Amino acid sequence: MSARPLGAQTEAVRQGRTGEVEHALRAQGPLPLGPKEGFARLRVGLDALQQCIRCGMCLQACPTYLLTGLETESPRGRIHLMDALAKGRIEPTPSVSVHLDRCLGCRACEAACPSGVPYGRLIELAHGELTACAPRSRLRDILLRGVVARPRVLDLVARITSLYERLGIRRLLHATGLVRALPSRLRRLEAMYPPLTRPRYRAPAPPPAPHARVALLLGCVMRVAYGDVHTAAARVLVRFGYEIVDVPDQACCGALHAHAGDRDAARGLARRGIAAFERANVDAIVVDAAGCGAHMRGWGELLADDPAWRERAAAMAANVRDVSEQLAATDLPATLGRLRMRVTYQDACHLAHAQGIRTQPRSLLRRVEGLDLVEMPQADVCCGSAGTYNVTQPAYADALQASKVAAILSTKADAVVSANPGCMLQIASGLKARGSDLPVLHIVEVLDRALAKYASEERGETLGGRSRSAS
Ligand code: SF4
Ligand code: SF4
Repeated sequence: MSARPLGAQTEAVRQGRTGEVEHALRAQGPLPLGPKEGFARLRVGLDALQQCIRCGMCLQACPTYLLTGLETESPRGRIHLMDALAKGRIEPTPSVSVHLDRCLGCRACEAACPSGVPYGRLIELAHGELTACAPRSRLRDILLRGVVARPRVLDLVARITSLYERLGIRRLLHATGLVRALPSRLRRLEAMYPPLTRPRYRAPAPPPAPHARVALLLGCVMRVAYGDVHTAAARVLVRFGYEIVDVPDQACCGALHAHAGDRDAARGLARRGIAAFERANVDAIVVDAAGCGAHMRGWGELLADDPAWRERAAAMAANVRDVSEQLAATDLPATLGRLRMRVTYQDACHLAHAQGIRTQPRSLLRRVEGLDLVEMPQADVCCGSAGTYNVTQPAYADALQASKVAAILSTKADAVVSANPGCMLQIASGLKARGSDLPVLHIVEVLDRALAKYASEERGETLGGRSRSAS
């Protein structure tokens, strides 16, 4: 993706003529979504908004700016819009909110910012305020609060929905081409249908002499769609001496709710998670979904206004570890198994930008004997997966997905590795659309397979040795 020349709006902001952009936006949309008092909570972030010195160093990191060259599709432009909304200079019209909605929340700008603007927190606040202004969506409430937040209901819905695949309906729709006759929104949802027929999580037996006790976040979508990835993560942790403590009361971390602007539901889920993990009394909460880990590290800020939970939330957030971070900090052998494979690694935005974890996954992969890690171009640029972005912003999502797939295929790798279920789904659907059946693996799956293969080969060699000496 190459940068577009500076647009007129960008030039205006660069020269300090920010009023021109506001004027253009005011002229675009006459329909206020609701009262601007709704932005009271965004005013909480005013100090953070003032941290932006308009240097523009974030622009070339922003996927939506790189696609459009528009100031209003850049972090700096969005910060300016949020500032104008918070101060009541502009109304939350659809023509304003669309620019905030098109933000992926990838936080690449935050990582590039020399002034420390906490962009992720600000855009989450803005989404919360825009959601409060918009008419309430009953369907969204049912999905997020009634299904995703309740593990048992989610499990039931997943089992019913999996019949679409189990009964062969999906295969039939694709084989006959009927899938192309679906309305475009439905077709997009179909392309993102999660793999609900994969095995569920099975806790491995504890190691003989554990050196630490950890809990594994099971989450929501991961729990029903990638249970075998959790199993792989747990097996690798156990192999290196961690006891996985069962936490039966845990639920969704609330990342999807916060991303959708439902901060009240996100707070409720954070409280529930904190209480559940406190009862488990573990050394760390290990997470194998980058988006969940990034959100949980922000639990302290999410509950900062709640005196009863503020300190508990901050303490719990400080104990959250991504699985690759936890493993990389462990006393590991020089070789992590054996796997003859050429792989390329995709940085999940919420791992690389939001948590600053880039080297640990790569160094773990490089320790696998026989594994060839080849870098793709722009590995840390968003793949276009961001909650429902694929459905709400199809043109942008498609462009980002196409760039990502081209970058992956250019490496001629045997598999692509990531650390976030959303990225895995987005990349798999993009590869399928290009006619590629390249496997998309989670990093713990690669490590688990490499270690298992190594162990079985070692066993084979030992048995072979024994039989030879016996004969
Ligand atoms: S890099 Fe930071 S300070 Fe500079 S324009 Fe972007 S958000 Fe503002
Ligand atoms: S979060 Fe990502 S898409 Fe949004 S402004 Fe920052 S870099 Fe751009």
